[in-house]
Amino acid sequence: MDSLPTPELVREQFSKWLDENWNPDYSLREWREVFVDSGWSVPHWPTNRFGKGLPAWSEGVVASHLRQRGVPGLPIGGGTFLAAPTILDHGSAEIQERFLRDILIGATTWCQLFSEPGAGSDLAGLSTKAVRDGDEWVINGQKVWNTSAHHADYGILLARTDTEAPKHSGISYFILPMKQEGVLVRPLLQMNHHQSFNEVFLTDARVPLSWTVGDVNAGWTVANTTLAYERKFGATFGEIRQRGNGRAAAEAHEEWLHYMETYKWYPQRAGRVDLIPSRLAETGHASNAISRDEALKVLSLQRVSALTAERARVLRELGHAPGPEGSVGKLATSNAARAAAQIHARMTGAAAMLDSSEESTDGVISEVILSVPAQSIAGGTDEVQRNILGERILGLPREPR
Ligand SMILES: Cc1cc2nc3c(=O)[nH]c(=O)nc-3n(C[C@H](O)[C@H](O)[C@H](O)COP(=O)(O)OP(=O)(O)OC[C@H]3O[C@@H](n4cnc5c(N)ncnc54)[C@H](O)[C@@H]3O)c2cc1C
Repeated sequence: MDSLPTPELVREQFSKWLDENWNPDYSLREWREVFVDSGWSVPHWPTNRFGKGLPAWSEGVVASHLRQRGVPGLPIGGGTFLAAPTILDHGSAEIQERFLRDILIGATTWCQLFSEPGAGSDLAGLSTKAVRDGDEWVINGQKVWNTSAHHADYGILLARTDTEAPKHSGISYFILPMKQEGVLVRPLLQMNHHQSFNEVFLTDARVPLSWTVGDVNAGWTVANTTLAYERKFGATFGEIRQRGNGRAAAEAHEEWLHYMETYKWYPQRAGRVDLIPSRLAETGHASNAISRDEALKVLSLQRVSALTAERARVLRELGHAPGPEGSVGKLATSNAARAAAQIHARMTGAAAMLDSSEESTDGVISEVILSVPAQSIAGGTDEVQRNILGERILGLPREPR
């Protein structure tokens, strides 16, 4: 691009490139290889790493143009949204060459191995250990809550490499091959009957020495990069859906359906605010002043929260570092989900306790009620978000450590 890039110019150039290169008869893999090797799949990445060196906003320009034209983009999931950008920011050239292209073309799937039974909010208190043995790390410990670990090829793993150092300074960040003898993945059955996360037991699991991301004992900084990308991923999760015609688009849709099997309860987890107006009418609660009042409160809260998320997205696209909007948005989403579950319960009455075969909303309302608590936990609990806002934004005294 000769002149200074503007969103209009980037869109025009990308559209021209698509006219010349998109072929709906490609298989999904063939298309992604062309797309990734062109630099357009991650235009904001450096030119020697599959990008075009364009500003951060170019990612959004390309994504919205793809959606408009019904052309499949990158695979969704922890590989694309968490592992890849973290590896780009902190990984060695060897790791970047080994993993990035495979993630972008959808050849590998990834999970996040951070939380432990004794370390969630206090993640730096983790106790899984990595001990060096020649040119490998040997890993022992237990992880929990690991979404999609049951079908992942690799895990981004935090483990303690120095037990003497202060807790934040003795952690390293690794890429763990999941398909090996020392890794046992046990799915957990949730109270809403889904099984999307797992316990992962690591018994003498092996990681090549060079698959450490960042410096040894500097894993806390790398983990924070992943957590910042996780907030961004959370905000865009619901929007990423493949559309369009042709073989690649059909395969992308299949891939999306397969991927969403794990996450199909996530809309219920967010409270199904969208169902409130129709449920008011169906249940006769539209004529109940209290229900109407409650419904309007939830709908307004959700609208304000969507606007906050949109503001955060625009700021990020303009290249600003993530600010307090992440924590504000996370709390607002939890509040809206809880309030929505309450009004759904009020409108549906005792039938809200029935599952799909017995209830007029096909079990959706009972799933909302059983899934909403997860909204206040995943990606950092409500209390932790309040601590962040209190200490880092409002400047209140820090809680005792
Ligand atoms: C749907 C879902 C998917 C997840 N996916 C993954 C994944 O893929 N990979 C992964 O590694 N993890 C994952 N997690 C784990 C998640 O990050 C943790 O559950 C979360 O960080 C909370 O940790 P915890 O469960 O250990 O709770 P704890 O940290 O034990 O918290 C228990 C309670 O104490 C409160 N509390 C804790 N510390 C404080 C404090 N300082 N001040 C005030 N209150 C406090 C909490 O708010 C909470 O109410 C997932 C969780 C969910 C619900």
